[in-house]
Amino acid sequence: MVAFIHVMVQSTSMGDGGLRDLRNVESSSFDLGGGLGSFYSEFNHPKASWFHDKEKSYVIAPALGNETARALLGQSTWRLIHTTMARFPLKPTENEKMALKQFIFLLSRLYPCGDCAQHFQQLLQEFPPHVDSRYDAEQWACAAHNRVNKRLGKELLDCSTVRSLYDCGCKS
Ligand SMILES: Cc1cc2nc3c(=O)[nH]c(=O)nc-3n(C[C@H](O)[C@H](O)[C@H](O)COP(=O)(O)OP(=O)(O)OC[C@H]3O[C@@H](n4cnc5c(N)ncnc54)[C@H](O)[C@@H]3O)c2cc1C
Repeated sequence: MVAFIHVMVQSTSMGDGGLRDLRNVESSSFDLGGGLGSFYSEFNHPKASWFHDKEKSYVIAPALGNETARALLGQSTWRLIHTTMARFPLKPTENEKMALKQFIFLLSRLYPCGDCAQHFQQLLQEFPPHVDSRYDAEQWACAAHNRVNKRLGKELLDCSTVRSLYDCGCKS
């Protein structure tokens, strides 16, 4: 974790040039000494052993009973997820692919509706994030959202329309 923070500090203190340099750091340079580094390799394992290690995957927040809070949180989070995918690089580096996986899996632990987070972890186990390109990422997020919609009895979205909905981050 210390190494991760160090990289983030470096990138912000070096301005644009520094950020560009760090975009090309390959995944092996993100060896975080048994912390998130081992989390990545375990997660990339075909059997996703990370999910079976309850110490590493447990959901942190309690259940969220308030329906209004739950809906507002869901709407904002879906917006964040879809806009992140729509602005993800067309051809991401290994480092960027790993960052997106990390983001989604840590979200599944930290999502502040704990019972939703449990469902989300189950979904990720069956349907892990696709991160090889912007198109793959946005289609994955749309399909994941549709799985949640289906479970909650909501309408499904036609995923061929998803890019036009979120590409500028300004969907009303
Ligand atoms: C990871 C996650 C897990 C969740 N798990 C639960 C849960 O277990 N139980 C629970 O009660 N709630 C859960 N929620 C909240 C739930 O998904 C909704 O956000 C909430 O019920 C509000 O629904 P909504 O009808 O306003 O639209 P939302 O589902 O919030 O969608 C917001 C807007 O996104 C657009 N949209 C709809 N489908 C798609 C799609 N497939 N792709 C792109 N855009 C789309 C539509 O314009 C829609 O109005 C979860 C949310 C997240 C982010």
